[in-house]
Amino acid sequence: MVFSENLAYWYIQFKRDLPWRNTSSPYCIWLSEVILQQTRVNQGIHYYLRFIERFPAIEDLAKTPLDDVLKLWQGLGYYTRARNLHETAKLIVSDFGGRFPENYAGLIRLKGIGSYTASAIASIAFNEAVPVVDGNVLRVLARFYGNRTAINSKAAKKTFTDLAEHILDPVHPGLHNQAMMELGALVCSTRNPDCRVCPLNSECYAFLNHEINELPVKSPKRKSRTRHFYYFHITYKGKTFMKKRNGSDIWHSLYEFPLIETDGPVPLDALSQTNAWEEIFGKNHAVPFSASKTYKHQLTHQTIISKFYRTEINQPPESLNRLFASISADKLYELAVPRLIERYLEDTEPEMAK
Ligand code: SF4
Repeated sequence: MVFSENLAYWYIQFKRDLPWRNTSSPYCIWLSEVILQQTRVNQGIHYYLRFIERFPAIEDLAKTPLDDVLKLWQGLGYYTRARNLHETAKLIVSDFGGRFPENYAGLIRLKGIGSYTASAIASIAFNEAVPVVDGNVLRVLARFYGNRTAINSKAAKKTFTDLAEHILDPVHPGLHNQAMMELGALVCSTRNPDCRVCPLNSECYAFLNHEINELPVKSPKRKSRTRHFYYFHITYKGKTFMKKRNGSDIWHSLYEFPLIETDGPVPLDALSQTNAWEEIFGKNHAVPFSASKTYKHQLTHQTIISKFYRTEINQPPESLNRLFASISADKLYELAVPRLIERYLEDTEPEMAK
């Protein structure tokens, strides 16, 4: 228990004053945990406040169309989180009368809530003794115990959850879990952890054995894939042609311009010989374009290299009318679009994109 006491004492003194720390509302805790997955706290705070202001209760989120939720989420990336958030909100309202199940077993049964989020809500909102294991906690545990299980391996989840359970404070599990996450974020950082001020330093394996830089262990990264996206910003009588992305690829449900994707860089005149071009422009090859700069957009396992070609047409080919929606200028900036397209719009129409 000395571990927990030292940790709790440190946390109470040094924790950051974050808006979701002043509540035990499962809705607010859930929202913050979903936003903070794969997002830095500084960026996440703005989104959290924006969401709470717009959707003060889960019923407000549930009754809002998905497109509006995605628009508010725009820029955070990993849009599956926003879609699951919306889906889960609807489910909690329809099947549970707007009340979250009050324990881990009930929470984990909900579609869209995984073990990490269920543990966070159960321990912080309902004081249930279940450990939370995020990236920060993994790092602290691997160093503290000198555990060499690769943190990105399949075995990691069980190994580190068992360790986290072993040291969990059963009386104050919510506080303990938050303290572990905060310690990993503020002190036991990936590079240059500040072991001198760490409340665990007297028993930490990595510190005592000078192995801070060797732990945690990570398996080599998956190779990143590069994709080339050529977008066509086509306007006709002030309207722009856009389409919602479908399928299991990135950016599901977000809007984009007509697109030709290639494996490598391809000049415009070569693009104009492709079937994909014909699907957009029909047989018309002589459209004048202005080209944007090249944009590079980094996702977890892929790099998107993109160029935007802009043109105004006199007569839309039948294919454009059939496959794409024509969006008026004022509505264009209300659509939920990938961050890549948002950057382009900010560069071309800074006033409208605000
Ligand atoms: S002593 Fe250093 S390595 Fe060990 S848990 Fe604390 S910050 Fe991390």
